[in-house]
Amino acid sequence: MPITVKHHYIMTDNTLATRNLADIKKQINDCAASFGLNGAGVTLVCVSKTVEPERIVPVLAGGHRVFGENRVQEALSKWVDLKKQFSGVELHLLGPLQTNKVAHAVSVFDVIETVDREKLARALAREMEKNNKNLPVYIQVNTGGEEQKAGIDPNEADGFIALCRDELKLNVVGLMCIPPVDEEPSPHFALLKKIAQRNNIKNLSMGMSGDFETAVQFGATHVRIGSAIFGARN
Ligand SMILES: *Cc1c(COP(=O)(O)O)cnc(C)c1O
Repeated sequence: MPITVKHHYIMTDNTLATRNLADIKKQINDCAASFGLNGAGVTLVCVSKTVEPERIVPVLAGGHRVFGENRVQEALSKWVDLKKQFSGVELHLLGPLQTNKVAHAVSVFDVIETVDREKLARALAREMEKNNKNLPVYIQVNTGGEEQKAGIDPNEADGFIALCRDELKLNVVGLMCIPPVDEEPSPHFALLKKIAQRNNIKNLSMGMSGDFETAVQFGATHVRIGSAIFGARN
């Protein structure tokens, strides 16, 4: 299938992003092994927000299939076409979701990582029922209790998980967190893991370019990595 990109663009970036991706996969494996864990249990979510499709194509062509975006509109404009060109893509929503964008989100994303309030959970449940879908979802936990940050308060997490799972029948597969930028991330990863364990939840989406090795040490099943693959964003 023809790919509408400038050839030289592919060639330059192909080398860089795919090499970075391979390096990070190796670091994940090495790090996991050093803590007696299996690196194969850690999925790298390649975060392609702000990255033009032309620069994503080489990573897809190299065989990677799990990606993350943080905006619904941007995901639609890039991934409807990319998904036609490459089969088997698993696209994760990593950013805050407004209820008026739930229908679009459910149409383009395969996993929603940012379920963080009752209104959104209900809207997602309704939309998915309407479309006969039950996408895997993560509950986002605001482990740092930050005013400006999305996520359910850790003290309300158990009740919210129960609501999502038992009453709304959402397919809750994991928990997700973004630790405060200026803090040591370990306690946040440990807290997320503790909440997951007591609620019998398997997946932990935690760790980004700057702290994924710490996240792996604390049992991350999914690390979300953007700038270490594609370079710094503007
Ligand atoms: C942007 C973003 C990432 C990736 O951040 P990098 O530091 O570039 O790896 C991960 N998770 C979320 C929720 C993001 O918004």
